[in-house]
Amino acid sequence: MADRYLNFTGTAPGRFLTRRLGLPQPAPLRRWSAEHPSLEGQLLHFTAGASTYRKELSDLLARTGHPGLTVRGSLSGGGSGRPAAVVVDATAVTGPETLAEVHAALHPVVRTLAASGRVIVLGAPPSADDHHQAAVQQGLEGLVRSLGKEIGGGRTVNLVRITGPSVAPAESTLRFLLSPRSAYVSGQVVEVGAAEGELAIPEDWSQPLAGRTALITGAARGIGEAVAETLVRDGAQVVLLDVPSAEADLAKVAERLGGRALPLDITADDAGERIAEFTGALGGRGGLDALVHNAGITRDRRLANMPAERWSSVIDVNLTSVLRTTDTLLKAGGLHRGGAIVATASIAGIAGNAGQTNYAASKAGIVGLVRSLAPRALAEHGVTVNAVAPGFIETKMTAAVPLFIREAGRRMNSLAQGGLPVDVAETTAWFAGAGSGSVNGQVVRVCGQSLLGA
Ligand code: NAD
Repeated sequence: MADRYLNFTGTAPGRFLTRRLGLPQPAPLRRWSAEHPSLEGQLLHFTAGASTYRKELSDLLARTGHPGLTVRGSLSGGGSGRPAAVVVDATAVTGPETLAEVHAALHPVVRTLAASGRVIVLGAPPSADDHHQAAVQQGLEGLVRSLGKEIGGGRTVNLVRITGPSVAPAESTLRFLLSPRSAYVSGQVVEVGAAEGELAIPEDWSQPLAGRTALITGAARGIGEAVAETLVRDGAQVVLLDVPSAEADLAKVAERLGGRALPLDITADDAGERIAEFTGALGGRGGLDALVHNAGITRDRRLANMPAERWSSVIDVNLTSVLRTTDTLLKAGGLHRGGAIVATASIAGIAGNAGQTNYAASKAGIVGLVRSLAPRALAEHGVTVNAVAPGFIETKMTAAVPLFIREAGRRMNSLAQGGLPVDVAETTAWFAGAGSGSVNGQVVRVCGQSLLGA
């Protein structure tokens, strides 16, 4: 659905009027396109404290293709034009003095950052033994989330925690966050672990899913369709699953994307077995490299007025079927080592929402599933488990929301606009890509840093 307010504020009179009235100022976001696949402009790399990653990170950032400038502390002269991105390595910040170096690095440059630019702070996990380090590393979260709220202009600010001895496993994450693909991801904290065994690196970073097969549930329309399209763009073969009543739409999407359609109600008792059978019989080595649990429904009503079947229909589709098919496919070896499971939560599951006890329980359930299963799935099956948690996304579902509530949902985030299905799809593609094997157990909100659940 068109965001008329965003279009209006893009005109000179619209900007003048809305600024005068103190109304939100959404900036058009730079999303990925074949013509403009990357952010254009210089990348500034600062180091706070004595980071052991300095050289390795500088080499990694150079590989992303941005003309770079590595600076030890804060910038004095040097750097030309408006930078597209600023990366501050704060992994060695252990006390308030080194935390001040993060401020010193960012203070002179945030104002110069190009529209739709990126700020990425690299942190370390807060230590259980050193409360000074823990305090300031946690402090980075407050800094990042606050800067995300004040920076404006379609710019995003995120924190990446490096938990292993090398930054190499963070390459896919840094590439994602430094690209137009992450346009609607802001105010997030992402943890990147150590590589399990040898780190998988895609031959071609523009095709991180080349040679991989992905199944997407709920793919006949909306976010699922966008996920399928984005995974195909990134090189994947796709299997598209949706309810038999959506078969005609599903077939159209499958034909357009060169994928296979699997009409199937995901709540069927044997859905996992049928997926395993269908994908096992695909050509080549068969089986899946990515399983995207996207199908979801809402049946809103306040708890006092909610009959049992309204409760259970939502739990069945959004949670029980995810638990059951995941278990079946992992047990049957239906996912190859190096594969990924991506589930769909929601900010409603994080913040709660009146009238959505069933939906929020199912989506918070996804968060619980991810946190518990991720370490075991990686250790036992070599498969990562992560979730996207969309905020307000412009779909048929949100177009049906009454105008006033819709406008509030759209504007109540740092980017002052709704996201698009492709924004959720881009985050899913990053989780599912061959280079993301060290991103595990993460729940990343694709919500423009929504105020809900913040
Ligand atoms: P949508 O209603 O447009 O699409 C959902 C798809 O899932 C449909 O094609 C539907 O037929 C399919 N589906 C439903 N039940 C199924 C079943 N039993 N078996 C197989 N397929 C089934 O919804 P959407 O807006 O694209 O949302 C996709 C996911 O994102 C959902 O999990 C939703 O909860 C989540 N989400 C959406 C938003 C948003 O703003 N749109 C926000 C947060 C989370």
